[in-house]
Amino acid sequence: LDAPLFSGLAGDIDVSFEFFPPKTDKMAETLWHSVGTLKPLKPRFASVTYGAGGSTRERTHDQVVRIQNEAGIPAAAHLTCVDATREEVDAVARHYWESGIRHIVALRGDPSDGSTTYTPHPGGYANAVELIGGLKQVGDFEISVAAYPEIHPDSADRDADLANLKAKFDAGATRAITQFFFDPQCFFEFRDRAAAAGIEDEIVPGIMPVMSFAAVERMSGLCGTAIPDWMEGLFEGLDDRPEARQLVSATIAAELCRRLYAGGARQFHFYTLNRAELSYAICHMLGMRPKDADHG
Ligand code: FAD
Repeated sequence: LDAPLFSGLAGDIDVSFEFFPPKTDKMAETLWHSVGTLKPLKPRFASVTYGAGGSTRERTHDQVVRIQNEAGIPAAAHLTCVDATREEVDAVARHYWESGIRHIVALRGDPSDGSTTYTPHPGGYANAVELIGGLKQVGDFEISVAAYPEIHPDSADRDADLANLKAKFDAGATRAITQFFFDPQCFFEFRDRAAAAGIEDEIVPGIMPVMSFAAVERMSGLCGTAIPDWMEGLFEGLDDRPEARQLVSATIAAELCRRLYAGGARQFHFYTLNRAELSYAICHMLGMRPKDADHG
């Protein structure tokens, strides 16, 4: 972990980028600019999130298909079980299959009414394990799932949480992508516990750049990610200084990735928040360079 600062980072990594479906033309423009910036890094895939209760069903579909067909990046569609019958979820999956999309990020999702207790739709899939089973009936999708180094808030304990992850792999998942975290040690411990529990599949750290400390604090509260003591101090006084904030944010994320790399991580999934520069800069620091012929 005390590897020399940024030496020995050979770019021998695989990356993926996550986007959310844009609500306005302006947001779509930002997204497409970001896709164009990140494309030369030849990501393994780019994924698009699915809004609460299926609220972005069409927009997610449109962006996923566009990313694959127009940008030429293998695309993955996030899909949840929330507020939908099995038939409705299957129909969404079938539409993806027919559109040439072969990769689904299969999730249970969170209650769309903001409540803290998840109640499955009476005719729906109860959780990600059931959803994976349904997806496999629709087509032989590549399936990514969520993993929680700091335990999912609904889990009774670490063992139950790992058992659920193992069940997702047993049901047919190819890889897990973690919830964001800020302590590399927490990822390593999780990876080791997963291995000890018999999970041999890929667990990819999910990297969240801190665009707004207040927003990350809010999200962390909901998903159980610990915010290190030092972080608030680092962002103190930067509310009106977006450029300084961006530099601080890049430094934190790059240092996290450097330590993960030193500890053996070779796959990274970036929660881009539809902004490319930060993810691009971190990939660059990890030694990645554009791979397209026309990008040198
Ligand atoms: P599951 O793995 O099904 O279960 C989560 C927890 O519920 C388990 O740990 C377990 O405690 C409990 N549980 C499940 N089944 C049972 C059972 N049979 N008995 C008892 N307990 C059970 N949300 C969105 O709405 N849209 C997105 O696009 C989206 N993308 C995401 C991408 C990633 C990489 C990650 C990490 C999360 C994403 N989320 C998204 C958030 C996710 O939907 C929530 O974290 C949700 O609360 C859990 O989803 P899951 O698939 O992990 O659930």
